[in-house]
Amino acid sequence: MNVIYLDNNATTKVAPEVVDAMLPYLSEYYGNPSSMHSFGGDVAEKIKEARENVANLIGATADEIVFTSCGTESDSTAIRAAVESNPDRKHIVTSRVEHPAVKNLYETLSKKGYRVTFVPVDGQGNLDLDYLYSNLSNDTAVVSLMWANNETGVIFPIEEISQKIKDRGIVFHTDAVQAVGKLPIDINETGVDLLSLSGHKLHAPKGIGVLYIRKGTKFSPFMIGGHQERGRRGGTENVASIVALGKAAELAQKHLDEDGYAHIGQLRDKLEAALLTRISHSMVNGDREHRLLNTTSIAYEYVVGEAVLLMMNEHGICASSGSACTSGSLEPSHVLRAMGVPFTAAHGSIRYSLSRYTTAEEIDVVIEKTPPIIERLRSMSPFWKEAVKLAAV
Ligand code: PLP
Repeated sequence: MNVIYLDNNATTKVAPEVVDAMLPYLSEYYGNPSSMHSFGGDVAEKIKEARENVANLIGATADEIVFTSCGTESDSTAIRAAVESNPDRKHIVTSRVEHPAVKNLYETLSKKGYRVTFVPVDGQGNLDLDYLYSNLSNDTAVVSLMWANNETGVIFPIEEISQKIKDRGIVFHTDAVQAVGKLPIDINETGVDLLSLSGHKLHAPKGIGVLYIRKGTKFSPFMIGGHQERGRRGGTENVASIVALGKAAELAQKHLDEDGYAHIGQLRDKLEAALLTRISHSMVNGDREHRLLNTTSIAYEYVVGEAVLLMMNEHGICASSGSACTSGSLEPSHVLRAMGVPFTAAHGSIRYSLSRYTTAEEIDVVIEKTPPIIERLRSMSPFWKEAVKLAAV
């Protein structure tokens, strides 16, 4: 059975060109980039090239790019560095819908005496900007907000926010893990000081990330060791993965330049429109205007998302549900709860996330297979029967 992979916000296929680029650095070119000899020096040159490619993708300069092990490391490093370099300030501002990579760090920081403000979102997943601005003070050390939401794809107005808060001595960090490679980003159009990205969301392998550090931003490293990454992240470089990310960044730039994700957006819109038409009591979670072009989160009322996923899996279709099931609970996700999505809808929410490898034929299969799955599950649901009865009254 062919796999139809619509779970690209979880992770992406490593692009074949990326595999080809990285393989020699797992075999013949194994020199240490810090070595004096040219066998190591050649590897250092290749890292330089990768750094430039990543910098180009976000409009940064190469020396503002620090390679890390993943998006989570970049997020943690950024937020810790921001508070450590502003020891007189004890306040952090973030949103209620951040990824656990960021969200769970605040529990630790709260225990250390930091006050954290979680800015709410509305029913469309848009940030309450008035709440955000009115909560900033001279005690605020860092504002950390995601650029695009991993569950709904909703995009926060990062450029606008960063312009509003700059010149206040507040460090501005953005978790751009879902945004980089999917949106055109020019970091110089923003006042962002720190930005996190992750290789495996843009067709590079897992285990490689980047922290962008704007020139002049006060910074203290998390990994203290050798002089690698100009002292900002010690440890011998993950050369093959860095080379891979450099190639993935180059490809992402090319695809963005070619059609700016328009093709992926058309397939997403086709999928969404067909499912909403064919399945009653279904709706899109999140603002459909300000959204990543590859993502749709659809709530099917009166079914359980995990059951839908299992039945989709029988047809080789991979997607995600809106529950925090990875943590062993069937609680609806904190993102959908923050948006006030009703329980019956949040529980039956499915996130479809496409990539440049998604085909029109695959979308047709999903459109064909999904309605009978929902119908079957609803036919077994006492809540659905009750809802139909009430609607008939
Ligand atoms: N931030 C967001 C918005 C994400 O979606 C993810 C991963 O899903 C992360 C951070 C964590 O990235 P990584 O898996 O590279 O640690």
